[in-house]
Amino acid sequence: MQSERPGGDQVDQKIAGRAIKEWITEFPILKKIMAKQEMLWLNPEYGKSVSDRVTARDVADAEDRLRRFAPYIEKAFPETGALHGLIESPLYETPKLKKFLEQATGVAVPGRLMMKADNELPISGSIKARGGIYEVLKTAEQLAVSHNLLKFSDDYSVLADDAFKKFFSQYSIAVGSTGNLGLSIGIIGAKLGFRTTVHMSRDAQQWKKDLLREKGAEVCEYDADYSVAVAEGRRLAAQDARCHFIDDENSKDLFVGYATAGNRLKEQFNEQSIPVDADHPLFVYLPCGVGGGPGGATFGLKQAFGENVHPFFVEPMHAPCFLLGLLTGLHDQISVQDFGLDNQTVADGLAVPKPSAFVGKAAGHLIAGCLTVNDERLFQFLKGLVDTENMSVEPSAVAGLIGPKMLLGTEEGLDFLSARQLQDKLPAAAHLFWATGGGMVPEKIRAAYYEKAARI
Ligand SMILES: *Cc1c(COP(=O)(O)O)cnc(C)c1O
Repeated sequence: MQSERPGGDQVDQKIAGRAIKEWITEFPILKKIMAKQEMLWLNPEYGKSVSDRVTARDVADAEDRLRRFAPYIEKAFPETGALHGLIESPLYETPKLKKFLEQATGVAVPGRLMMKADNELPISGSIKARGGIYEVLKTAEQLAVSHNLLKFSDDYSVLADDAFKKFFSQYSIAVGSTGNLGLSIGIIGAKLGFRTTVHMSRDAQQWKKDLLREKGAEVCEYDADYSVAVAEGRRLAAQDARCHFIDDENSKDLFVGYATAGNRLKEQFNEQSIPVDADHPLFVYLPCGVGGGPGGATFGLKQAFGENVHPFFVEPMHAPCFLLGLLTGLHDQISVQDFGLDNQTVADGLAVPKPSAFVGKAAGHLIAGCLTVNDERLFQFLKGLVDTENMSVEPSAVAGLIGPKMLLGTEEGLDFLSARQLQDKLPAAAHLFWATGGGMVPEKIRAAYYEKAARI
């Protein structure tokens, strides 16, 4: 990915041995992406190939593990008491927001608009409370079981005892993060007694660093982007046999932790008597950084709802790394900078230059398409959500709200619908935007987001 000559401009750059011009000839949509336009890309592999990198069994195993840990979680985090130690978020129908969205985007949305409120997930207030916490729990279980301190049949609330904290304090956990993954891992890691280090990129918000230090995690700051923070964390962790590195760019455990969301969401649709079937399709819009959260959730959704769910990934216009990786088939071998994009976005949870190596291969064929959204719109949506439903999230978490406009108001979206004979079913459809985080944003920062949105 070196420039042909020092200081050479974009056209001279080679990506995987080919000039940008050649890539554009093969994939003309790159012009739109590089021109930073909001766009929808339909995935030609959707529903075609299969991958056995992750199986239904892996997800069932994760569901069982989370059930084993529920008594511990309930004891260590009393706020999870209502669900007896399951870390889960509400599902809402948001009709007032739907009206706002129709006005703001000029596109009518037949059917329902739903919100999966992961900003309300207990413990760390973001989707990372699924995958991130899961991988730490799995690590703790493996250590305790292999040292004959714990059996699968035990009541795991014993893990809250000081003896276990002392045991885990001989081990450490490390992770690279733009913020929310670090928060999840820092909080659960410290609670269990692990020494926890979070390597944070330049985009990470100060309050997230402060909060982590307050919780007892060590924070290493980098004046570099996310990929660099991850690589450095990975390198340092490899030197310590007692350190487990949670590798956001390549972790199957994170992925299956996220995937447990699928069956739980299906239960919530059932409880609310909202059908999802051949006559009631479900469109899901997931904000995407490296792809682990949305990829895992997509895997779970496809298991739960099969052909009746259509997952779309949403990325900032300046950081569409997952889209570029899937489109070119190069996955983690590209970065947004290769295509002249700067990875600068207010959606700090999505400010990622390179996608996961694992997710595109394990779940690429399950993703209906990828779309991009501009930062100004994120502020507009954030304010709209406060004004209509009185719910406050972080900018990354509203990215999915661009989904209905792109599906229902673009040529590509209409092509997608007509190719699957979905147009007649739209009045019975549900559009779900996954509100991925914001539960821990301090009041002052919330107010600042809102003020900024009001000015735009
Ligand atoms: C991490 C994150 C995402 C995306 O998850 P990835 O696994 O990085 O794709 C989306 N929204 C928020 C708020 C996040 O913190």
